Amino acid sequence: MVRAPKGMSEEVIRRAVEAKKLWLYQKVNHEHKYPTRQQRKEFVSGETVLYLGRKYRLQVSDEDVAGVAFRSHFVISRKNQPQAARLFCQWYLERAQERIARRAKYFAEAMGVNYNRVLISDLRVRWSSCTPKSNLNFNWHIMKAPASVIDYLVVHELAHLLEANHTPRFWNVVSVQVPQVEWAKEWLRRNGGVLEVDF
Ligand SMILES: [Zn+2]
Repeated sequence: MVRAPKGMSEEVIRRAVEAKKLWLYQKVNHEHKYPTRQQRKEFVSGETVLYLGRKYRLQVSDEDVAGVAFRSHFVISRKNQPQAARLFCQWYLERAQERIARRAKYFAEAMGVNYNRVLISDLRVRWSSCTPKSNLNFNWHIMKAPASVIDYLVVHELAHLLEANHTPRFWNVVSVQVPQVEWAKEWLRRNGGVLEVDF
C-alpha cells in the first residue's frame, strides 16, 4: 500500500515507487527487522541451514546418507527428505551435547564452580536454564548461533551457581569469561526469533 498526497498523479506515484524499489525490497526482506516472517524450512536442495552462526547450503542427494552429513555443506538422502526436520533435530542434539558439555567443563574449571549434569532438550520457551540441583539445561536451537553466543549462555548458567540473581556481581562474573557479553545478548535479541521458527 502506498500513501500519497491527495491529487498526486498515479504516474508520479508509480515513478517514486519504481525509483525506491530496491530499497523497499531490502527493507521488507531484512532478516533483522522481520525475523518472524522467516519461512519454515522445506529441506530442498539450495536451501540454507544455520550452524554456529553461519549459513550452509543443503544438498538433497540420491546417494545413501545415514541421517545428516556435514561436509562444508549439509547433505541428506532424498528418501530421508520427509523426516528431514527430525534428522536435523537429532544432528543438532548430538552436536550440542558434545560442544556444550566440553565448554561447560572448560568454563566451570575457569570459574571454580561444580555442576551436576548438562541436559540438552527442546525447551521452546528458553535458551537455557539452571535448576536447583545444578543441572544446566540448554535448547538445541542455540547450535544455530555463533560459538561466542553459545559460550555466553553456558557461562550465564554457570554464573548462576555463584549468584542466583542478575546482579552487577553476576554480570561481572560473566563478562570476565565472555568479554563480548553485550554483543552476545544483542545477537540473541535480534536473531532469537529466527533460531526458533525456521524448524
Ligand atoms: Zn539468568
